Amino acid sequence: MHIAQRMKLLGTETAFEVLVKARALEAQGRHIIHLQIGEPDFDTPANIRNAAKVALDKGYTHYGPSPGLPELRKAIAEYMTKHRGVQFNPNQVVVTPGGKPIMFYVIMVCVDPGDEVIYPNPGFPIYESVINFVGAKPVPLALKEETGFRFDIEDLRKLITPKTRMLILNTPQNPTGGILTKDDLKQIAELAVKHDFIVLSDEIYSRIIYDGFTHTSIATLPGMAERTIILDGFSKAYAMTGWRLGFGVMPESLVPQIAQLQINATSCTASFSQIAGVEALTGPQDEVDKMVAEFKRRRDVIVDGLNAIPGVRCHKPLGAFYVFPNIKAIGKPSKVVADYLLNEVGVAALSGTAFGAFGEGYLRFSYANSVENIQIALDRVRTGLAKL
Ligand code: PLP
Repeated sequence: MHIAQRMKLLGTETAFEVLVKARALEAQGRHIIHLQIGEPDFDTPANIRNAAKVALDKGYTHYGPSPGLPELRKAIAEYMTKHRGVQFNPNQVVVTPGGKPIMFYVIMVCVDPGDEVIYPNPGFPIYESVINFVGAKPVPLALKEETGFRFDIEDLRKLITPKTRMLILNTPQNPTGGILTKDDLKQIAELAVKHDFIVLSDEIYSRIIYDGFTHTSIATLPGMAERTIILDGFSKAYAMTGWRLGFGVMPESLVPQIAQLQINATSCTASFSQIAGVEALTGPQDEVDKMVAEFKRRRDVIVDGLNAIPGVRCHKPLGAFYVFPNIKAIGKPSKVVADYLLNEVGVAALSGTAFGAFGEGYLRFSYANSVENIQIALDRVRTGLAKL
């Protein structure tokens, strides 16, 4: 079968490949601790599951409007108004199968070949993949461990050119767990307005934050409402990865274009998933709070455990459920260390380079696993690295 040339431009997400390798080792009888996965290990809360069951029986089994069911778009607008602190209306919302399509759609709709897109590196690999796919130029912006994996505003300033069309932000961030402060966002917003570029703000981890930090969306800052697309969704906050339910909140004028692309790609998002989404946003939120409290407990265990291992240094992140320890003192490439941990030690983690070139010298561990398993993994990593 002929494969189109453009496929050479498309990247991937290594987490899925590592999962396949780990499963293959398990099929051979090996015991693997999964710290590579980017999804909560909790069940979707019962009230949300029940809402979907009722929706199925009520006939929410058909196509719906491409930008989303009106009741969910309304619930999302109200939720975003409450959580972001500025007014959003339902006509600004497009519901998608997971948050990921928003990246694809927004870059397809807003970025021309030859345009430049600045994106965080290390960062979610799909950004760079899609920027390449549309024939634009990916411009990596280095995140720095010294500042808790924020980036230097001066570095950003230097990367802006007349061709800069878009900046992608992700806070709290995958893979580092880093966050951008309100002051960072203010400075970024000033640059966006001055140089007239748009911002794709990936806020999928905005509910998973610790130590009293409060999330700010760049969309709420002066001049930004008309140039920001917020990506958010249900996968992480409500442990709903398999439901494929996410959304974008954007200037109203962009909605018809994004919806048209969705008509071409998937028609719409599953109707009963959307009804479950209404329950997620409007029902009790205590399960989310419990999940975040448990993630915090695990974060403290894994950060302390990693910092006690010779050759490893781990920053304590303020968001998401990942840690990004520095392993430069081990003196081996990150990919070699990650492969060794999987094949010889029985711990599935990702090489920092799975998130871009600036991830060299780091590993990513997800702590979406029990404290007991995290402790076993830490023991294995400690013993394993001592032998490497
Ligand atoms: N954005 C980031 C930074 C992510 O880490 C992920 C998932 O891992 C997504 C978006 C996409 O999430 P979804 O499962 O809703 O498509």
